Amino acid sequence: MSRGGGGGSPQLAPSAAALVSPAEAVRSSFRLPILCYHKIEPRHELGVTRISPRRFARQVERLAAAGWRTLTLAEVAACARGERAVGPRELAITFDDAYRGLRDHAFPVLEAHGFSAICFVITAYAGALNRWDVPYGGRRFAHLAWRDMRRWQGRGIEFASHTATHPRLTWLDEREVARELAESRRVLSAALDCICTAVSYPFGAAGAREREIAAREGYGTGFTLARRWRGDPMAVPRTPVYLWAPPLPGVGLLAPIERLGAAAANRCAVGTSLLLHRTRDRAPAPDPSLRRSTSRSPGGAWGAARARGRRSAPASASEAESD
Ligand SMILES: [Zn+2]
Repeated sequence: MSRGGGGGSPQLAPSAAALVSPAEAVRSSFRLPILCYHKIEPRHELGVTRISPRRFARQVERLAAAGWRTLTLAEVAACARGERAVGPRELAITFDDAYRGLRDHAFPVLEAHGFSAICFVITAYAGALNRWDVPYGGRRFAHLAWRDMRRWQGRGIEFASHTATHPRLTWLDEREVARELAESRRVLSAALDCICTAVSYPFGAAGAREREIAAREGYGTGFTLARRWRGDPMAVPRTPVYLWAPPLPGVGLLAPIERLGAAAANRCAVGTSLLLHRTRDRAPAPDPSLRRSTSRSPGGAWGAARARGRRSAPASASEAESD
């Protein structure tokens, strides 16, 4: 349906905006705040992605007190496709990496306030230590086990893909990108008896090629970090909540400054990827006691995932920065 045909103002020539369909109009004005958290942990580390449980609880309380409500993944996807308008005081809360600390320090707080969240899982590391990451300060953190996720499904927490092994997809060849996306979708769908429809690209890194492959592999929504909205449901931007976030993250007066800081920090994550590339081959095997907790995991792809963890270098610096 096109706008601009009705009305009684023949003296006004139809502007380009008047010819935009309602869906396009919604899509172009998509302004849904989507927060992206990582670790909610009492244990300190040197990185910037950890938020203490007390600080997180205060942020959620402030958001609830200010009248904000959270959207489900289906609602976010509908907004991104232009099929649903974003209402006032609506936001979405997401978590990348699916750390175990969420089970103890984040999910119960959200549930107490009637908030929902979307949690993105690195499927080959469910129930294992985060050996895919740089151990800032020598610390390792455990990821949610499948049984934790099953426990929180249906209690406001939805789970989706954060790939199988958390590579920077823009540095992989096309076949590897497809495998990371396909395998994580298959494993998560089987483990949680659902259809996985969304992916959060590691480091928010996804160019046109990665977005196309994700769509081809069955994803309907893709999430990036600290980017500008360009009308593509496969590249929905989020505001990362880092150590320095204000009490009302992502939606307060400081939100534009937050987004700038987040964009800069996200650029620095390229350094993390390079460091990982240099250290991956030296990483020890996963902790067997933690692996046992994934006994119902349908993946069985740990060895393959480890093998694929030995990544090739970025194809080019420009490609690495094109995400
Ligand atoms: Zn991540």
